[in-house]
Amino acid sequence: PQPASADIGVYGLGVMGANLARNLARHGHSVAVFNRTPARTERLMDLHGGEGDFVPAVDAAAFVASLRRPRAVIIMVQAGSATEAVIEQLRELLEPGDIIVDAGNTFYEDTERRETSLREQGIHFVGMGVSGGEEGALLGPSIMPGGTDASYERLGPLLESISAHVDGEPCCTHVGPGGAGHFVKMVHNGIEYADMQLIAEAYDLLRGVAGMSVPEIADVFRDWKHSELDSYLIDITTEVLDRVDPATGAPFVDVIVDAAGQKGTGAWTTRTALDLGVAVPAIAEATFARAASSAPAQRAAVRAAGLNAGTTVPHLAAGPERDAFVDAVRQALYGSKIAAYAQGFDEIATASAQHDWNVDLGAMARIWRGGCIIRARFLDDITRAYEADPQLPSLLTAPTFADALRAALPAWRQVVSAAALAGVPAPAFAASLAYVDQLRAQRLPAALIQGQRDFFGSHTYHRVDDPEGVYHVLWAEPG
Ligand code: NAP
Repeated sequence: PQPASADIGVYGLGVMGANLARNLARHGHSVAVFNRTPARTERLMDLHGGEGDFVPAVDAAAFVASLRRPRAVIIMVQAGSATEAVIEQLRELLEPGDIIVDAGNTFYEDTERRETSLREQGIHFVGMGVSGGEEGALLGPSIMPGGTDASYERLGPLLESISAHVDGEPCCTHVGPGGAGHFVKMVHNGIEYADMQLIAEAYDLLRGVAGMSVPEIADVFRDWKHSELDSYLIDITTEVLDRVDPATGAPFVDVIVDAAGQKGTGAWTTRTALDLGVAVPAIAEATFARAASSAPAQRAAVRAAGLNAGTTVPHLAAGPERDAFVDAVRQALYGSKIAAYAQGFDEIATASAQHDWNVDLGAMARIWRGGCIIRARFLDDITRAYEADPQLPSLLTAPTFADALRAALPAWRQVVSAAALAGVPAPAFAASLAYVDQLRAQRLPAALIQGQRDFFGSHTYHRVDDPEGVYHVLWAEPG
């Protein structure tokens, strides 16, 4: 039998698990590795066994026995029944004080349920968001662990050592208790959906309104790298737009079927926001846009119905007018991006208050600066905004962002109107603008809705001159 010496165990050596185990071993940690199908363990040892101190196990009992106490096991298998099965197997083998980490993309409510159940047995359960895909897992992901303080004391140094680092700081911090880690990872993915959709809308506007070619648009995105929009997503957008399809010589983007896939985290973020009563229209529109794009038969039928009435496509010639439009799109994109992130952070803040997670919002922006798809300079501004005022009612109110929005709004309005007139769909641009307009409005038509509700359902209303009082009109009686 192996001596109980491994610092940490990784259960599940698929793409993500194997890379996470290698990352740990390369950072000098002794890593017990186990996989249901032994061939994967053997393959990891054959290909990468020399990269560090791996302790391969043939069964779950030997795997657990090889870990030093308190034992810490990272599970990296598919979310759902696989994760459930592995947790049930491990709880039989582990002891009070030991730690189980679920590093898969699990819905945070499942994490909360499992944490409660394992706590009764004295086992710490950590739901941990890991961002950055395969490459991140190997070279440095952004890591969002939830769970108890005690579990973070044991895991923190290991996790921080393998995470991405930006300006010498690890992209890993203890997010908060319970399901906080998986919650934050979920919203991170929702924000990613919004950010990608906004960039896609900007591209579509440059094409459909300004009439620009794909190489011209690639140059615009290249320029935007030197603006507040600088981000990994802008970089890869430029690369995708630069690519020419070798088979046809056409822009690569034109040979890709225009149906966006999804694995569900955008829908989770949206559904959870609905449950919490938080408005996240940019994230919701981004999720809906993927759904709408992926209904080819419906799209063909509606296209055949010829609903082009009222669309006017300006197609601006190269010159000052077009340059002005390109700059307006940049400003609209930045304004929309601020609004989308404000929505995501509002969702985290609301859940944190409801669950008593005490999530440090500025720290979330800080750990997303490396390893993540949404990594960007912009996140530093968010961190600074929350450092200056941890109680910010909305990111829109932070002085940096309020100034940026004031500057962007005139162009943003023009761009949304131009999109509507040209019939170029820009749902996330438009919804983000409406979000800002709703929050800044002196009065909302919600007053009329309350009147309607009182009329048909006796739902009552409050008066502006008596906000605490509860009123109802006897509508059937003559006023
Ligand atoms: P993968 O390559 O398909 O590997 C799946 C692993 O799960 C295999 O080791 C498999 O073992 C194991 N497994 C499945 N059912 C099991 C069961 N009932 N009992 C024990 N082991 C079982 O998956 P992956 O891409 O590494 O993803 C793993 C997790 O990471 C998922 O939750 C995913 O959402 C999350 N994640 C993935 C990415 C990404 O970019 N791929 C990024 C972030 C998070 P066998 O070899 O025995 O089948």
